[in-house]
Amino acid sequence: MLGTHLECVGSIFTRPPPFFQPGLLPAFVAGRIDLHAHTVVSDGTLTPTQLVELAASSGLVALAVTDHDHTGGLAEARAAGRRLGIEIVTGIELSVEHAVGEFHLLGYLFDEDDAALQAALARFRDVRSARAVRIVERLQALGVDVTLEDVMREVPAGEGASVGRPHVARALMRKGLVGSIQEAFDRWLADGRPAHVEKAKMSAAEAIALVHGAGGVAVLAHPFTVPEPSREALVRELAALGLDGIEVEYPKHDAAERARLRRLAAELGLVATGGSDFHGENKPDVRLGAGIGENIRVEADVLEALRTRAGAAGPRGR
Ligand code: AMP
Ligand code: FE
Ligand code: FE
Ligand code: ZN
Repeated sequence: MLGTHLECVGSIFTRPPPFFQPGLLPAFVAGRIDLHAHTVVSDGTLTPTQLVELAASSGLVALAVTDHDHTGGLAEARAAGRRLGIEIVTGIELSVEHAVGEFHLLGYLFDEDDAALQAALARFRDVRSARAVRIVERLQALGVDVTLEDVMREVPAGEGASVGRPHVARALMRKGLVGSIQEAFDRWLADGRPAHVEKAKMSAAEAIALVHGAGGVAVLAHPFTVPEPSREALVRELAALGLDGIEVEYPKHDAAERARLRRLAAELGLVATGGSDFHGENKPDVRLGAGIGENIRVEADVLEALRTRAGAAGPRGR
């Protein structure tokens, strides 16, 4: 649990002194941050409070909570952040439909109460719940002994949560039907596997406009998931639509990929961001703020660059 992460506690000099107000992180405070993490309101396994406590014990100065289609973890995370002196960055992860396949966009620093955004998120969550039923039906037809109740037992936040394939994978693992989350994806749930069911997605233009309309910035998540040879062309296409950044520091990006993406970001005037995509026990090899075996490092100035970009744009897209 938390104790296993204590070895990565950062220097006390990288943490903001507790008298600084979260949300008003002074520009001169340096330190390590993480701009991509999930809680139990989507497919993470830690509560928002547990996640922020882990961020604190990991020596982070700021953390973006980026649940799939859900901002419901943010209020609790902020309360914990105020207590522990960690800035909580408003975040979201959206799924986009595109000719190259599905990809994800991260939104940051938007107005969480934006009505159009919340209406869209509620719609996507409804479709996710209906899809969970269809995935279970598909599995049952394939002779896999799992029920919707088994899946919902793996959704700690209950009915209103953003239900996803990792919850189904956990149910299969709990019943001993697979040995790991990864095996559940490889055998049944991954795209192209027998129990895969599509979920509702937006177009890239819609997703970027939704985040911009709420005053935020949009960042392409884990670009390695975009199959080659389309990756660079997609980044260029999204940049033309107003994309603000790309996630460069990511556990699954090798050094060459990071260098390529960094160059592309510089050329297109995009912010090179980063995050661990922490999911707790649903991605057991990934550590908050550190990635896989300490292979990512994101500094607070990345957040400042996003903030500058959000501020410079002013209200847009409405
Ligand atoms: P969903 O949002 O229900 O489509 O599930 C997507 C989530 O499942 C991602 O955010 C990852 O956490 C996880 N995931 C997707 N594809 C895989 C895969 N091939 N192997 C393991 N986990 C995956
Ligand atoms: Fe996920
Ligand atoms: Fe993602
Ligand atoms: Zn994610």
